[in-house]
Formats: sequence, C-alpha cells, structure tokens
Amino acid sequence: MTQPTALAPILVSGAGIGGLTVALCLAARGFSVNLVEKRTRLEEVGAGLQLSPNASQILIGLGLGKALSRAACSPLSLDVRRAQDFDLLARAPLGDMPNRFGAPYWVVHRADLQQILLDHVRGTAGISLQFGRSISAISRTARGLEVTLSGATQHEQVMAHAVIGADGLHSDLALLMGDPSKAKPSGYQAWRGTLPISAVPPMFEPQRTTLYLGAQGHGVTYPVRGGEQFNLVLVTREKSHEAGWSRSGDGAKLLQTLKNWKPLLPLLQQMPHWQVWSLYDRAPRSRWSYGPVTLLGDAAHPVLPFMAQGAALAIEDAATVAHMLARMPEDPAEAFARYQQSRLPRATRVQETARKNGSIYHLPFPLSLARDLVIRQKNSNLLADYDWLYGWTLPD
Ligand SMILES: Cc1cc2nc3c(=O)[nH]c(=O)nc-3n(C[C@H](O)[C@H](O)[C@H](O)COP(=O)(O)OP(=O)(O)OC[C@H]3O[C@@H](n4cnc5c(N)ncnc54)[C@H](O)[C@@H]3O)c2cc1C
Repeated sequence: MTQPTALAPILVSGAGIGGLTVALCLAARGFSVNLVEKRTRLEEVGAGLQLSPNASQILIGLGLGKALSRAACSPLSLDVRRAQDFDLLARAPLGDMPNRFGAPYWVVHRADLQQILLDHVRGTAGISLQFGRSISAISRTARGLEVTLSGATQHEQVMAHAVIGADGLHSDLALLMGDPSKAKPSGYQAWRGTLPISAVPPMFEPQRTTLYLGAQGHGVTYPVRGGEQFNLVLVTREKSHEAGWSRSGDGAKLLQTLKNWKPLLPLLQQMPHWQVWSLYDRAPRSRWSYGPVTLLGDAAHPVLPFMAQGAALAIEDAATVAHMLARMPEDPAEAFARYQQSRLPRATRVQETARKNGSIYHLPFPLSLARDLVIRQKNSNLLADYDWLYGWTLPD
C-alpha cells in the first residue's frame, strides 16, 4: 500500500472549525495537507459553542485537550427553565459525561476554539496554510487532480490527491461540483452577547448551561473564556434576513419582543452590545462526494443550532473522512463514498431533530403545558434519549 506521505497533498478548502480539524486529523495519519482559506485572516467572531463528548473526544485525541481545558468550561448541568416565570423544569447533570462517554461536555467561545486549532495547525509539519485563496477550477488528469487556486490578483495551479470542501454554509465547492441548491433563511434570528461573569446576578447560576423556553423565542446561557465571561444566545422569529455573523442588533427591539420574560429582563438589559445573524437551513444534500472530491461540515449539512451540534458534526466528519482515507489512501473516491455512506444518515437525523426542537422550544400556550410536563417528568434523565448522539465512535 502506498504510504500517505508519498501522495500529492490533500487540498482542503476553508479554514473554519471543520477545515482546521480535518487538516489536523489528516496530518496525524501521515497525509500532507494544503489548506486554503478565502478570507485574508481569521477573525475573532462568533459566540459560544457547545462541544459535546462526541466532539471533545476527537479534539482530545488530536492533543488539544490541555489547551481546551483552559479555555473551555465544563458546566455542572443542563437546566431547562420557563422564561416567563423562571420555573425550573429539569436539571440534567453534565458533569458525569466523562464517566458515561469518556470525554467532557465543554462550552467554549468559537474564537478560542478556532485559535487553538489554528495554533496546532501552524505547529504541525505537513500542513501548509494559505489565506486569501479559493478554488476556482478542478480538472482530473492522469497524475491526479489539477486545481486552480485564485487570490485577489493571481491564479496558480496545484496538484492534489483529493479535495475536501470545508467551505461552510454557502459552499462554493458544492456549486463547482454541480449542486446549485442553496441554503434558505430559516425564519429565525440569533442574538448573541457576553457579559463579565462578575456582572451576572447569582440567580442565573452562571456555572450551569441553562435553556430558557418561551413562545417568543428561546435562549441559552453558559460560561466561556475559562469562566470569565457569560455567553447569552437568544433565538427569535424574524421575517427579514441578511447574511453575515457580526451585525449589530437593536437591543430595544429584542427587549420589546421578549417583554414577557420578566425574570430575565435585568440580565438582558445589562448587555452593552448585541450581535445578530440570520439562521439558514437547507434540505439534506443527497450527495456530498464526487469521486475524489467531497464536502464536510456546514458545506455538506448545515444544522440549526437547536441541538448545538454544528461544530460537533463538522469535527466528527473530519475524523471520519481522515479515517476512511487512511484505510485506502490510494483510492480517495472509494474512501469518500464510504465516508458519505457512514455520515449522511447521522447528519440528516441531527438536522431533522434540530429543526423539530426549534418548534418544540417555541410552542405557544397551552401546547407548552404538555411540553413542560414531559420535560419535568424526564428531569435528570432529560439527556438519556441522546446516547446515540453523545456516544458516537469512529466507524470500522
Ligand atoms: C464567522 C463564523 C462565526 C460563527 N459563529 C458561530 C457561533 O457563534 N455559534 C455557532 O453555533 N456556530 C457558529 N458558526 C457556525 C459553526 O462554527 C459551524 O456550524 C461549524 O463550526 C461548522 O464549521 P465549518 O468548518 O463547516 O464551517 P465554517 O465554520 O462556516 O467555516 C467555513 C470556512 O470556509 C471559508 N470559506 C468560505 N468560502 C470559501 C471558499 N470559496 N474558499 C475557501 N474558503 C472558504 C470561510 O471563510 C470559513 O472560514 C460560525 C461560523 C462562522 C464562519
């Protein structure tokens, strides 16, 4: 069998969470990687991300555990409260995840995770990272794939053994491969802000993850940045939409929408600045792999954030695609076909469950009474239904 080191590099398009992780997973298996990112630098944008054990185990396996355990926090529990009256419906422990699934349930700022991945990529021999570059053409030749990389002013041709598109929600690579389908506005808008943890009134128990349910929206809070900051994300319905991650939000409008959330108003009123972004969704793509070219992460299957699995699925994809390629390094087309076969049903299940959660979270009264009763009955067993999600392991 040809050793991965003897092959042309694997070209990865997009240095987001998925692209950085797959570069590390491939390098760990001996492949050389050419990672290209369209932006000229990685910006410190985004909000908190939840890294459930299915994802944290992979990052720990890549040697990121020490750096992540400093930046991330391990919340004691997932609490579910009714936003209108602060009633505690359920408290499910998260601290027992290492015992149950062999890895922690972390919450982390997206920028911290991205920086830790980037530092490791920069410190890994065998990965070349170029900013300001994207793929404009791919052609198959007898020697492998000839890829045209375009920057602001120049083009260059490079050879690649295989190509992985980790270029996010509006994947240019999927379009290049002939899939014109587009992600569509979901009708939800996310609001995000952070506060110093010292400014958070104790009743909000900042060492826990809390999910607030209400008919006008839902919210999630947890600590980030090694416990120094408190992350708030609120999701409301919004007809208008705009692409981008860092638009400023009108706090007065948010407070008006959530005016019935009386117990939370003192917290929301403290936020000096809200960032907003429109949430997009897409029907599952039927195909991710095109011979020696494949997609991963949001490029393949964007997920509404109502299960907190967007980053986790991208990380699982990264580990799986590297695993399949390492099993048959000479045959990327077959490796990518098996990768798709193994990942597509799971990603589709998560996409569908997340979509359903969105409607359940926002149920109006009196339907919300039945939902609340079910959550109350489950209480500390609330997450027991998610063993299939958190207990994921690499396929054979
Ligand atoms: C700026 C930003 C902020 C985010 N903030 C949050 C958040 O706060 N909370 C949350 O839950 N999720 C957030 N997400 C989404 C979450 O990070 C993703 O669901 C998840 O990490 C999947 O990662 P991904 O690598 O597939 O895609 P992404 O993280 O979207 O990364 C895609 C990367 O590809 C690059 N790219 C795009 N087009 C091209 C191209 N043609 N050529 C080369 N590179 C290209 C992009 O610049 C980006 O760096 C954010 C995503 C982004 C891009």
